[in-house]
Amino acid sequence: MKILTAQGDVLEQGGGLMLIGMFQHENFREAFIGRVNDRTKDRVEKTAKHIAFEGKVGQTLLIPGGDALDVDFVLVVGLGKQADLHLDTIRNATGAAIQIARQYGLGSVVAELLGEDIETYDPLLHAKAMTEAALLASYAFTNYKDEKPHQKLVSLTLVIEDANDVQAAKKGIELAETIIDGVTVARDLVNTPGQDMTPKRLAAAATEIAKLSAGAVTVKILGRKECEKRKMGAYLAVAQGSHEEPQFIHLSYKPEKRAKKRIALIGKGVTFDSGGLSIKPSSGMETMKCDMAGGAAVLGTFATLARLRPEVEIHGIIAATENMPSDTAIRPGDIVRASNGMSIEILNTDAEGRLTLADALHYAAQQKPEVMIDLATLTGACVVALGEEISAAMSTNDELRAQILSAANRSGENMWPMPLEKNYAMLMESDIADLRNISTSRYGGSLTAGLFLKNFVPEEIPWVHLDIAGPAFAERPIGKYLGKGATGYGVRTLVEYIRGI
Ligand SMILES: [Zn+2]
Repeated sequence: MKILTAQGDVLEQGGGLMLIGMFQHENFREAFIGRVNDRTKDRVEKTAKHIAFEGKVGQTLLIPGGDALDVDFVLVVGLGKQADLHLDTIRNATGAAIQIARQYGLGSVVAELLGEDIETYDPLLHAKAMTEAALLASYAFTNYKDEKPHQKLVSLTLVIEDANDVQAAKKGIELAETIIDGVTVARDLVNTPGQDMTPKRLAAAATEIAKLSAGAVTVKILGRKECEKRKMGAYLAVAQGSHEEPQFIHLSYKPEKRAKKRIALIGKGVTFDSGGLSIKPSSGMETMKCDMAGGAAVLGTFATLARLRPEVEIHGIIAATENMPSDTAIRPGDIVRASNGMSIEILNTDAEGRLTLADALHYAAQQKPEVMIDLATLTGACVVALGEEISAAMSTNDELRAQILSAANRSGENMWPMPLEKNYAMLMESDIADLRNISTSRYGGSLTAGLFLKNFVPEEIPWVHLDIAGPAFAERPIGKYLGKGATGYGVRTLVEYIRGI
């Protein structure tokens, strides 16, 4: 979909659907009537009265165009109180317009740049938010459909009142296009079934990203033999049940100028998780192609770097493997040794993500980063705690965690802090090895998983662990701009964080 700009009054524009926003305030009715009614001969006012439209967040009013308005339909969306306007309200309003335009088979949307009259108005950020939502809402994964649905909606035009703001808005659009291209890379990778999205295929995607980067991104792939040499016993234990060769992916991006910071992004890359011999029930396995969503978020982020060119050195690390049951699979009770020298008693082969991450985190630390961020669809317990739309952020460093949470908030990804409670570390102690891979308690499973990972991160490197098991894959639409399936969760937050360094 093309995102265009126009300057002037949105009411003068023509097209399929017109989007206008209304704030909720004391003189709402007068403001509303003053704005739209003289052009629509009472029609809008009557309809608004009928459904008690008063501009609350998320309220919508859809009316046919015609009369003096040169559009098929007008969608009025409530933006709530001016002082409370969040960028995500703007995203949801835009998403609602895109959804309706698609439903009605309309070819174009014209929208005013929402929130132009608020105090914190920033044409770049507002245009960025609207573009993000429009592109995310118009995503469709059709690779396996014989009949591709015809996408009628081809353009969104953002109409900007003040001529001085047009350039900034254009910059916001361009930035959003780059970021959402990265999100789309992640969504496509996650939506592709496990039969096709093997570790080899994930490695090929990394190679492709490097190839398209014109030298900005380089990639190194380690196979089973090389991982054996590096003594990645925890990761290889997960891989040993599958005939698909594990692929340890290491992407690097180096800026032309001196890097302001060196960071490592580590993504869980279990391309299909059956649970291994501790096999999952069949319903629990249905969406397990999404168990590489952390890795996909890292790849999606790298896909944006050639265009964004941040002054940050970035390492992307994904220990990709399948987790399958077979006569070569790891058994519950087996003890393996990770590359940092720690022995791990594997009591449940379905707690495999942390095993792959153990070696991935240790490898990442050897690149001497100043910050480590891992993303993993790690625990069902996290979904129990925070629901399907919110990820958990656990960290050894309050400042870093605050930076990540703030980046998530700005980018519209929902995230909440959770503790690395040291009193719980004893729940991961094994009688006969250094660690066990599942807790001795039924409770607090996402925290004990985080504590397990902490053993593989040097104390001096600030680290944040993001458990994205909830929001990585939507079993029902999230808000108004993310449909079912892979969400590409994490890319927007990571890019926002990197841009802020
Ligand atoms: Zn698992």
